[in-house]
Amino acid sequence: MKLLLHACCAPCSEYPVDTLRKENIEPTMLWYNPNIHPYEEYVLRRDSFVKYCENHNLEFIMIDEYGLDEFCKNVSDNIDARCATYCYPVRLNKVFEIAKEKGFDTVSTTLLYSIYQKHDFIKNYMENKSKETGIEFLYRDFRVGFWVGHEMAIEDGLYMQKYCGCVFSEEDAALTHKMKMPPLPDGFEFIEVKRNEVIRKEKEDKEKFMNLLLEADPNESLVKEYLDKGDLYSLYYKDELASVAVVLEIDSDTVELKNIATKEEYRGRGFGKKLLKSLFGNYKQKYKKMIVGTTENNIPFYVKQGFDKFEKRVDNFFIDNYGDDLYDGNLHCKDMHYYSKELNKE
Ligand code: SF4
Repeated sequence: MKLLLHACCAPCSEYPVDTLRKENIEPTMLWYNPNIHPYEEYVLRRDSFVKYCENHNLEFIMIDEYGLDEFCKNVSDNIDARCATYCYPVRLNKVFEIAKEKGFDTVSTTLLYSIYQKHDFIKNYMENKSKETGIEFLYRDFRVGFWVGHEMAIEDGLYMQKYCGCVFSEEDAALTHKMKMPPLPDGFEFIEVKRNEVIRKEKEDKEKFMNLLLEADPNESLVKEYLDKGDLYSLYYKDELASVAVVLEIDSDTVELKNIATKEEYRGRGFGKKLLKSLFGNYKQKYKKMIVGTTENNIPFYVKQGFDKFEKRVDNFFIDNYGDDLYDGNLHCKDMHYYSKELNKE
């Protein structure tokens, strides 16, 4: 594949380029963003893009055009519709034009990364243009890495713009002092993001985490039951799943940690604790207490995490639900011990 990737700016290129390179796709970048205002801002973003490409050994094509006159002439009839009627088409058409001229067989754009852009419009426009020109469109929903890319850009010391680009978006940002934050794509609710770690609430396809959940709780029908009703959280380290947890509401004050599991290769690195800490912060907004049921072996771990109040013991719980031959290390599992943690202590 010979991919031409339109870049709207350097920060928005970080995550898409990183993701594509992990797929062994090496993009050539294209700078064409004539609607950025004022000229000083245009220069800042352009130069930051060039520096980013050089630092990351990326090939790039530069179309250095500042197009304020054309922009004003073309959007003045309906300023509110400017993104779809002019700004996206003029840039995306150029990607296909340059791809054809320079012999690229596939195109895409980092506009698909920003949660502030009109994602579905861009996707449909690229798909239609692809049919019209015969040049492949590589679609990825890069928005899932929005906060990861944001961290990468800060670490790289890139120039971080405060508005989308044109004079009207600059006015919006200046008057409201913030850009409007649109919802994240379905199925993604980030609760914490660091450079290489993302904790998120998973809303779809929960069963794909079943194998890892079974490592902590081998009764598949019980897991299915609470997975169905509960909230599932994942912790990814460098895009690889490391830990999962399931939390279930018990009553208006209490939630129960039903399962927490870390992949063998990630154990002993504190991922389970990080995930738990995040959950405490999340649930303390609404609930007073989190409980956990455990075998005797794991009581010290949970007490250390703040589950310091003994609640109850359910005799023969494991024998009744898992049969007589369930072992946790050398421990023959019989009774379930419940401990609780006051969330507002967090
Ligand atoms: S808001 Fe952004 S996408 Fe829309 S016209 Fe302005 S610069 Fe272009």
